[in-house]
Amino acid sequence: MNAPFIAVSDLAKTYGVRRGLFGAKRDLKAVAGISFDIEEGGTFGLVGESGSGKTTTAKMIMGAEPPSSGSIRIAARDITANSAAETFALRRTLQPVLQDPYSSLSPRMRAGRIIDEPLRIHGIGNEASRAEKVRELLDLVGLPADAAHRYPSEMSGGQRQRIAIARALSLEPRCIVLDEPVSALDVSIQAQILNLLKDLQRRLKLTYLLISHDLAVVSYMSSRIGVMYLGRLVEVGARDAVLNDTRHPYTLALVAGATPGRSAAVALHGEIPSPLNPPSGCPFHTRCPMVRDRCRSEVPPLQPVGDDHLVACHFSDISRTELSHA
Ligand code: ADP
Ligand code: MG
Repeated sequence: MNAPFIAVSDLAKTYGVRRGLFGAKRDLKAVAGISFDIEEGGTFGLVGESGSGKTTTAKMIMGAEPPSSGSIRIAARDITANSAAETFALRRTLQPVLQDPYSSLSPRMRAGRIIDEPLRIHGIGNEASRAEKVRELLDLVGLPADAAHRYPSEMSGGQRQRIAIARALSLEPRCIVLDEPVSALDVSIQAQILNLLKDLQRRLKLTYLLISHDLAVVSYMSSRIGVMYLGRLVEVGARDAVLNDTRHPYTLALVAGATPGRSAAVALHGEIPSPLNPPSGCPFHTRCPMVRDRCRSEVPPLQPVGDDHLVACHFSDISRTELSHA
């Protein structure tokens, strides 16, 4: 693994939520203490069902949400301990691309304005140099120069996501945080955007944090993968280790779900429990096909099972093939 560009350590976010207007405040652990590294130039894919804490993790890394505890290091500097000015500068190296380009792009701005807005906010260049930059960026994301004059409403979903990517690239970041970047797009368009992102990564040496509920997207794009469940990482490591030597029953269920014709014995049953009322012991035990008594009381720690491969399961030594037949 290359040197980490982002290092997250024991990161946690607890929200105080009220049930109804006068209900008592209760703690919701959106992210319950997670650690992972994103290698420079690589793609770290964070996967898990809706509500598992992926976006909250991204928001903390982007500086949009303060962590309740833990630390985040970007390019070897601790952003959780930095001054506002330093954080502003560091944030430039990290740009977001979000799920729905239609709601994240201002409908009243033409694409050229949307793309050069970050440059204007940071006071970079003049009118002419910014117009040149917009042309370059449009070309980079595979759009014609005249796209600069169009409004988001005059574009397809795929074109809008290309505009969002061009905007994210305008400040020449080293890392892009992609939160469900293709979830709102037709499957046929998804591949085009994913391939564009791969191509840009190679050409610009970008580091990606890719978030998706779709394991197929994460497995196509990632060099390393983290699997989240109820605010915790249950399995993390090199892509091939996580996908081909799967040790956590939850990952196994996601893999089975992403593979047509795979055994229904590992299919996920029931809803993800509420993070307001998480299960005791292993957070996955209420849905686990191989649950044992110990799982109901003891939280399994995230432990190494191989080179760059960690798993939080009391029975992580049992191979995936045995699990599929359990
Ligand atoms: P994901 O992106 O994996 O779908 P999120 O990070 O959006 O998950 O949410 C994780 C949990 O935190 C969910 O239960 C969600 O309802 C809760 N949550 C997210 N943001 C807030 C907030 N601002 N206030 C209270 N709860 C929140
Ligand atoms: Mg999300």
